[in-house]
Amino acid sequence: MTTARRASRSVRAEFKSRRARRDRFDDQALYSFMTCPTALARDLVQVGPDPDPTSLFDQILASDSARFRSKLLDYSRATSTGLGGTRRAVTPAERARQTRLLMLRGPALIRSALLARGNHLISRPHALVACRGRSNLGDHHYAPVVIKNRLHVSAEDRTGLTYQALLLLTVQGRFPESGQVSLRDGSQVTVGLERSSPDSRRVKQALQAWLDGRRGSPVPRPFGCARCGSCRWNRACQEELRKLDDPSLIPGMKRKVRDNLLQAGVSTCHALAETEQAKLVAIPGIGKKLAATFISSARALSSGKPVWLNRPDVNTSIDEPSLFLDFESESSVDADYLIGVLIRTEGQERYFPFLAREPGEEGAIWRAFLKQVSPLLTGGTKVYHYHSYEAAAIRRLSSRHGDPEGVAERLLGHLVDLRRVLRDSVALPLESNSLKSVARWLGFNWTGDDASAKASMIWYRSWLESGDESLLRDCVVYNRDDCLATAVLADWLSAMRTGLPREEIRR
Ligand code: SF4
Repeated sequence: MTTARRASRSVRAEFKSRRARRDRFDDQALYSFMTCPTALARDLVQVGPDPDPTSLFDQILASDSARFRSKLLDYSRATSTGLGGTRRAVTPAERARQTRLLMLRGPALIRSALLARGNHLISRPHALVACRGRSNLGDHHYAPVVIKNRLHVSAEDRTGLTYQALLLLTVQGRFPESGQVSLRDGSQVTVGLERSSPDSRRVKQALQAWLDGRRGSPVPRPFGCARCGSCRWNRACQEELRKLDDPSLIPGMKRKVRDNLLQAGVSTCHALAETEQAKLVAIPGIGKKLAATFISSARALSSGKPVWLNRPDVNTSIDEPSLFLDFESESSVDADYLIGVLIRTEGQERYFPFLAREPGEEGAIWRAFLKQVSPLLTGGTKVYHYHSYEAAAIRRLSSRHGDPEGVAERLLGHLVDLRRVLRDSVALPLESNSLKSVARWLGFNWTGDDASAKASMIWYRSWLESGDESLLRDCVVYNRDDCLATAVLADWLSAMRTGLPREEIRR
């Protein structure tokens, strides 16, 4: 197929899916609203910016989840009843009718059900489980089941179950007291459900937002946050946020705080940079410290230059060893598959990758890593890393695989989180404080344009499936670059500790 034909097919598919979204409020619309009201509204407008193409990582995650769901439902095939036929073959109304007929018969578990209220509200629960207790169906009723390829129940799961329980109330005349979440580790979590709960209120808010969107209400102003990175509207929203010079471009801004700033008339980063600290402190949700941080970040963004708050407390020029640490994990196999450490001793640097060729080797690489670093953990040795992941991973691996000689415990005492140092010492002219943004701003480049934590996970998964050694090498190169980037940042902060003129520091 030519590129032009492929493009026109995807435009037609997008148009069709937007029309379907306007026709029906479903689980996906509820999820979009919970991600961000702007996402739901953008999904409904017929004319507007195009969404970003789905990333390879998100495609893989979606197909993993679908595979996990069908595997679990296949296990229960002996005790469950499906509706038969393909979903495409019948209309939602017919599917809902078939579901109710099946519910009247009362099988223990129903697969591929469809619940509906009127023509516009539908849901496709992953399964329905029969429970004792009277309803319109007889001496039994049904509760919703959600199957998640994760290890924890999320707020979205609870709200989704509540929406399905509200539809079940229409179908069976009884609101189920609980729903179930089946998790990746095989556990079944029972979630209590109530008709009047915050989850129920969220469902109603989402429904109202959907109705407003259908009536053509303006798309709510975007809010820049960590979720944007995996949202299909990222490009359109970032463009709008930059045009508006929105305060949520400042890293760490909370939605409620941004909304309070807008209400107080502080609607741009420029305005925020010029605002007196005393005025900001009067705005709900902003304390003295936060006000100072916001003003510094807004000044840095507006001027394009760093704003220094304190001398950074980092010194990499000491005689003792400096270690730069980075872990890579893969959620689908629930393992840390690569521990990388760049060791600098007496002016020499050497990178050590501890790589699990299969997830079952996690314990072995953990022990090898501890053996490598143990002799270096003395006196003033510093182990630099970026953000909280490494400390959490060390604790998790200790409890999973042990720490018989207390090396991990000592290691924790030597950790220096450079993200924390950065936050306390300088506001950078950046919209994100991720290691990628910060190190790139300092001039560091990762090998390969597509290098990212998500890409590394894809390479590792593909290695597990294909056995292609080059993919493992890509994982190691990426991890080595992360360690090098951490070292670049630490050295820059260390240089600024002594080289920064006093008058550059604002407080
Ligand atoms: S990109 Fe961000 S602001 Fe835009 S819809 Fe998605 S989550 Fe909301």
